[in-house]
Amino acid sequence: MRSNVDHLTNPLTAVRNLGILAHVDAGKTTVTERFLYATGTTHKRGEVHDGTTVTDYDPQERDRGITIFAAAVSCAWDGHRINLIDTPGHVDFADEVERSLRVLDGAIAVFDAVAGVEPQSESVWRQADRHGVPRIAFVNKLDRAGADLDAAVESIRQRLHPAPLVVQLPIGAEDGFVGVVDLPRMRALVWADGDDNATEGPVPDALRDEAELRRRRLEEAVAELHPGALEEFCAESTLSARTLVTALRDLTRTGEGVVVLCGSAYRNRGIEPLLDAVVAYLPSPLDVPPVRGTHDGTEQERAADERVPLAALAFKVSATATGRLTYLRLYSGTIRKGDTVLDAGTRRTERIGRILRVRADRHAELDHAAAGDIVAVVGLKSARAGTTLCAPAAPLLLEPPSVADPVVSVA
Ligand code: GDP
Repeated sequence: MRSNVDHLTNPLTAVRNLGILAHVDAGKTTVTERFLYATGTTHKRGEVHDGTTVTDYDPQERDRGITIFAAAVSCAWDGHRINLIDTPGHVDFADEVERSLRVLDGAIAVFDAVAGVEPQSESVWRQADRHGVPRIAFVNKLDRAGADLDAAVESIRQRLHPAPLVVQLPIGAEDGFVGVVDLPRMRALVWADGDDNATEGPVPDALRDEAELRRRRLEEAVAELHPGALEEFCAESTLSARTLVTALRDLTRTGEGVVVLCGSAYRNRGIEPLLDAVVAYLPSPLDVPPVRGTHDGTEQERAADERVPLAALAFKVSATATGRLTYLRLYSGTIRKGDTVLDAGTRRTERIGRILRVRADRHAELDHAAAGDIVAVVGLKSARAGTTLCAPAAPLLLEPPSVADPVVSVA
């Protein structure tokens, strides 16, 4: 297990505001559970089928077996803080998906290795396109009978249209799926039965030719899209792991390519490399464009900087035993306990009560939170999903307030 650091030396570059997008049943909940387990946030693995998962807070969600309401959970991986924002996979909750996409900086799209791209993954992919959310793909359930990574990758190419950049070669198939070859580094990661940590070693002889062929294909695909990589490829006829990783990061952030990883969340295989990929390829709040809003009819931008006035979006309100929790994405500025903030829509002020970092096992209380972060706040009385909170002296409206119930007028 990697170090579980919650005190970051360079907070903004080390933050990943991440969502998991998937068709219902592709394995989003299981991947979330495994993330929390791998990062040491939960000590017992929650299983979807016994109703003990930690991100599905609401009894209605458990009853219906689908993730209805978004919740954000923080965990730490390799010196980075990952704020995992749950996005509903069910089509009936398109508005909530929209709202979640607004507050994410990057996402993992999870696909089922048997089904490939399914209709809901396609529609949520288009929504993410509209929001310009950089993505990596995780082809899950490689342990299932009929699992086919190549076919799933082909369906990504044909139905979603980005260039799939496959960075792993599975070792073993279906029930015998035991690990992956990490193609940029040409190293094998193998999970022994009952062991959550991979053993790293050389590429097995039987897979060497195949791994070399696939690395070559990856190099060619990357060189075709990335001028820096092309230069090195022409000069050296190969790409170093370092160049590959840098180019893959750039291509992810521009959306020109999608890095594809694979595994079996259920068997806890492929989860740690997926966390590494989140850190390596997906952007931090500093790597995304500044947030935009309006004030008195003029458009303004606010940089992800704690020294500029506050702009935050409430994206979820939930009633919990701790109180009424308002989940906030802070885009600029800071909040402190006791601060007065302005609801930019209603022009009323509100007071910040306790500030919480929501974790799977416990909530940590913070005395302040800054630009780029996602936290939950207790004590806001009227903020709703979609409310902008800003500095009273520097109002900015990030999203129009939701339309009130129509007034029935009698002629
Ligand atoms: P969600 O609807 O996307 O959140 O999907 P879940 O995580 O709830 O998973 C749906 C079903 O697929 C559950 O029964 C899981 O146990 C199962 N599942 C998830 N990941 C895997 C996997 O890697 N392999 C197999 N065979 N089943 C999986």
